[in-house]
Amino acid sequence: MAVSPQQAAGPSGGLAEFEKLESRAARIGKLRVRRALPARGRQTVGAWCFADHFGPQSFFTERGLSVAPHPHIGLQTVTWLFDGEMLHRDSLGSEQLIRPGELNLMTAGIGVVHSEENPGRSVGKLHGIQLWVAQPDATRFGEARFSHHGNLPKVELSSGVATVIVGEFGGHEPTQADASIVGLELSLRPGVTTIPVAPSFEYALIVIEGDLTAASAHLEPGCLAYLGAGADEIVVTASGRTTAMLIGGAPIEAPLLMWWNFVARSRDEVEQAWRDWIGGSLRFPHVNSALPRIEVGPPPWLQSEH
Ligand code: MN
Repeated sequence: MAVSPQQAAGPSGGLAEFEKLESRAARIGKLRVRRALPARGRQTVGAWCFADHFGPQSFFTERGLSVAPHPHIGLQTVTWLFDGEMLHRDSLGSEQLIRPGELNLMTAGIGVVHSEENPGRSVGKLHGIQLWVAQPDATRFGEARFSHHGNLPKVELSSGVATVIVGEFGGHEPTQADASIVGLELSLRPGVTTIPVAPSFEYALIVIEGDLTAASAHLEPGCLAYLGAGADEIVVTASGRTTAMLIGGAPIEAPLLMWWNFVARSRDEVEQAWRDWIGGSLRFPHVNSALPRIEVGPPPWLQSEH
């Protein structure tokens, strides 16, 4: 829901638009998430089209908060943890433990299947965010890929540190997405932090822990602040230790059709992906997981035909 869109000018005259959008509560299995994107009235920020902030949440069973094998098309997943561990398995044969400060970047292309599992602990805690990037036409029908990245570059800011997760910032570009985007983790101390940004990109902030002020608005976990495009810097003020994600990118033109785990442009594409998943097509190969794969009924426009 959009809360009082307001004009807000940064010190350098940027931020033509500002919207504070409340996240929606959702569940993925036993995992409680705050879905910051898509939000009502806003589907994308650049090519970023999905953001689920999950946890912090404790678990007390060996299966933990695992997400069983499920398919994706047309997107890249950016998985980033603040606490805990997850074991990624996919249909490319990847098996990768991810810890806080590390990036798992999976590219679905024409089709991939993965699970995100508790790595065998019977008690633990999980806190993280998973974002999706819509792939452009040039790559969205291409092959699936997976990469893991530790030791991501950190850039000192006036009152904090930015970890460069994807795209270019401060002269570092550890990983590239298929779309022109940037994703940073901001670890802020009390004080004012000025973040240089690209005027051609639109940006949004998602607070993970703590709180901050941006464009005269108070931001806390459970919302996404859309900052628009055209600014050359973003100014944030934290009152205590605060963790936030800053995402940005070149605005994308085509409206996306997103359903379940598929990012597409048409109903036909989604319907075919759904049929291929339920029909056991080789488009979505097996994942080496003990968990049963997730089944799903047809997309809503097919249900209404019956
Ligand atoms: Mn997934």
